[in-house]
Amino acid sequence: MMTCAMCDNKKPLKKTKITHKYKECGLDNVTLVGLEYFRCEKCGEEYYGYGNMEKLNEVIANTLIRKKEFLSGFEVRFLRKHLGYSGSMFSKIIGYDGATLSRLEKGAQPVTKAFDRLIRFTVAAKIPDRNYDLHDQILKGEGMELKRIELTAMAHGEWKLKVA
Ligand SMILES: [Zn+2]
Repeated sequence: MMTCAMCDNKKPLKKTKITHKYKECGLDNVTLVGLEYFRCEKCGEEYYGYGNMEKLNEVIANTLIRKKEFLSGFEVRFLRKHLGYSGSMFSKIIGYDGATLSRLEKGAQPVTKAFDRLIRFTVAAKIPDRNYDLHDQILKGEGMELKRIELTAMAHGEWKLKVA
């Protein structure tokens, strides 16, 4: 049972399931279906039951690096943050200066094919147990048409992925 952490309401919070635009991740095209949601009747504080957020974000990261079109700046930023890097650390790793990376992430400078690939492989190098091969995907010209990501909450903190 979960109680409110923000006020003295001792009553257990009522759990509902909602469909939620996951804008907190920095992307506006990710929808979570069946997300657990709690709201304190006394103070109005809201709580989202993301469960293992690392796992959730990893599903999104794995999906982004398999898309057919180039990554957007916001997607690059999501991926960098998912790996846990600051802008300056990540720019060191990929061999870009921080200002250029910042412009790319903000969309002030267009993502090139070489930059897109660099980001994908940098991310893939840190994600274990992938069930796909990025080399293969690129050589075969495969990849997902990706406009929207929909994730449905399943048992045991798993997420079912649907790409549209
Ligand atoms: Zn409260």
